[in-house]
Amino acid sequence: MMIAGNWKMNGLTADGVNLAKEITVAVKAKKRNCEFVVCPPFTLLSLVKKALRGGKIALGAQDCHAAEKGAHTGDISPVMLKDLGCSYVILGHSERRADHHETSAYVCQKVLAAHQAGLKTIVCIGETLEQREAGKTIDVCSRQVKESLPDGAKAADVVIAYEPVWAIGTGKTPTPQEVEDVHAAVRHVLAKKIGKVEAGKMRILYGGSVKPSNAAEMLSLPDVDGALIGGASLKSADFIAIADNAGC
Ligand code: PEP
Repeated sequence: MMIAGNWKMNGLTADGVNLAKEITVAVKAKKRNCEFVVCPPFTLLSLVKKALRGGKIALGAQDCHAAEKGAHTGDISPVMLKDLGCSYVILGHSERRADHHETSAYVCQKVLAAHQAGLKTIVCIGETLEQREAGKTIDVCSRQVKESLPDGAKAADVVIAYEPVWAIGTGKTPTPQEVEDVHAAVRHVLAKKIGKVEAGKMRILYGGSVKPSNAAEMLSLPDVDGALIGGASLKSADFIAIADNAGC
């Protein structure tokens, strides 16, 4: 089970350091059997890395460029993230697909570059409300998985995050059955793409308005292997309550 926090574009120095310290203390407070990851904005990565010291929480970034270095003003390469101590990078988040017109093919290039740099990837997929209402959820998510993952992707390197776009930051969620249906379909597509064994091992997180009150139900579904948490990851008490309620 993985509990991952996506802080998005939030937090100045003191907020980020305090949040990381609080989470470190709370995670250490009891024996836990889950993997924890926090993904602060680029500006906080170094400071948060220091604040997490001594704990078992992995550091992740929220995006990277597909190139190792070069003339890409304002971008950050996967090698730079690795150098800062990141183990993970979130790629293909719907906010990047929407705000920066990132296609699945481009996400796939980033995934490959991140793996080459020694990072693990959290690859996001998910349908818009319009696509859901048109009955296209499974088609859209299946295509995103096929196109965003490189051939031969391994469960040790890739985590999928299913995040319905309409559930992000809205307080709305699909029903548990709807979540399970998409996760099972994603695993089926993965089995065809990377083989049954790797597909069975690959973690598929649910993301979209996860909070302490719905964590137990969402995270106990058979094909749900954890959560990617946005808003609720900005409060240590909520982030930890989600983990606690999920049995972590
Ligand atoms: C996210 O954007 O990754 C996310 C899951 O956000 P929230 O939990 O705020 O819906």
